[in-house]
Amino acid sequence: MPRNHGKIPPGFSSCHFLRGDHGPKEACGVFGVFGHEDAAKLCYFGLYALQHRGQESAGIVVSDGKCVAEHKAMGLVPDVFKEEDLNRLKGHLAIGHVRYSTTGSSLLLNAQPFTVHHGSRTISIGHNGNLINAHTLRSKLEAEGSIFQASMDSETIVHLIAKNMRLGFEDAVVEALRQVKGAYSLVMMTEEILVAARDPKGFRPLCLGKLNGAYVVASETCALDLIEAEYIRDVEPGEIVFIDKNGLRSVKPWPPSRSAFCIFEYIYFARPDSSIYGHNVYRIRKRQGAALASEFPLEADIVMPFPDSGNYAAIGYTEALGVPLEMGMIRNHYVGRTFIQPSQSMRDFGVRVKLNPVKELLRNQRVVVIEDSIIRGTTSRTRVKAIRDAGAKEVHMLVSCPPHRYPCYYGIDFSTKGELIAADHTVEEIRSYIGLDSLGYLSLDGLIKATKVEKEWFCLACFDGDYLEGPIEGVSKDCLEK
Ligand code: SF4
Repeated sequence: MPRNHGKIPPGFSSCHFLRGDHGPKEACGVFGVFGHEDAAKLCYFGLYALQHRGQESAGIVVSDGKCVAEHKAMGLVPDVFKEEDLNRLKGHLAIGHVRYSTTGSSLLLNAQPFTVHHGSRTISIGHNGNLINAHTLRSKLEAEGSIFQASMDSETIVHLIAKNMRLGFEDAVVEALRQVKGAYSLVMMTEEILVAARDPKGFRPLCLGKLNGAYVVASETCALDLIEAEYIRDVEPGEIVFIDKNGLRSVKPWPPSRSAFCIFEYIYFARPDSSIYGHNVYRIRKRQGAALASEFPLEADIVMPFPDSGNYAAIGYTEALGVPLEMGMIRNHYVGRTFIQPSQSMRDFGVRVKLNPVKELLRNQRVVVIEDSIIRGTTSRTRVKAIRDAGAKEVHMLVSCPPHRYPCYYGIDFSTKGELIAADHTVEEIRSYIGLDSLGYLSLDGLIKATKVEKEWFCLACFDGDYLEGPIEGVSKDCLEK
């Protein structure tokens, strides 16, 4: 296998940049249960497994068939729910939600599940994804007299359902979803019925499971595993599933269209122990690493990931080249979201408290770092500096996906070009910014091959700018607050 002895390979640039402070953020995780006497507790565990999809707020709504109760607050799942909160949430039907805000501020008002009372019915919704026409729908609804309580896009769906209730609940749901555009994997409930729905392009994942006769819906299969539920299948793009005491009914009201599953779920967001459409995320990430090895077989003394995000691609890279994998930086797993800042003289403390380089491993070595993505570039820059400060002779970086050049409007938190270093910088400029000897990105072809799925199945808009729903305007995190 050709090695370039640390020199910059062709098509590779000799510069730098990398991702934001904590990496890109997912919009949310959703979970639902019908037919289990401990529905709220199952939701709690499901949300626990889905915590990586949202850390700003968490909530559960439960029904015993007649009365609805809820508990939600800002914070992580174990902080939001105490034993007594869960004991109060009694019923066989529940939905839960963990949030990271991509439309609307991070406020309790915007925490989900979002619940409204309409006539004699209570409707609650938990939403993963981003609607791209929420601002126009909301203006129209407000002009017609609707009063909105929150500033997130998901509330629009509830208003549209309420407006169409004369059709009956199930048809009102269909009518509401007919009007919204963009990404949604939803759980909804009334006192008596659980609803799970995916947008016609299937941007975000959603799967269906069973546990002792009860139905379970979850953003990812890792949540089914934790409660020992059996995976049945993924909810199809464009499918709406209704579950009540009469069982499960599925409708697909829209004509079939090209799907657009977010490939970034496989690269970064989904947990590696989850499978989506039967494709295990861990294995895909390993194959991305192997693809990097065939595109960039660098000669190095040490190959290491930035833990944890680069771990699986790094395993694939080293396995393919037959070289050992080292953990050149050690992660402190017990760092909270905030901590008291030390004096200014302790530079880069925020990074070092989370990831500390192993000086004895890195000193005088040629290091190749494997990373899963570069978004803003700031954190990578600090980490690379830490590796150099530890005595590394050369630092090269390989990224297991192509450069992110275009914003995401479908539920990931880079919704403007300004948040993406690759939007207006060359690979060479990025290399230089981050402080690398060389920088290489996996090709789009290599990425697609690693998934073993057809290219046409994916949304690739943040890489190629092809927004399958046409040009998108007016969408931003605060577009409903302006
Ligand atoms: S633009 Fe990128 S991050 Fe957003 S849905 Fe498409 S593939 Fe995923």
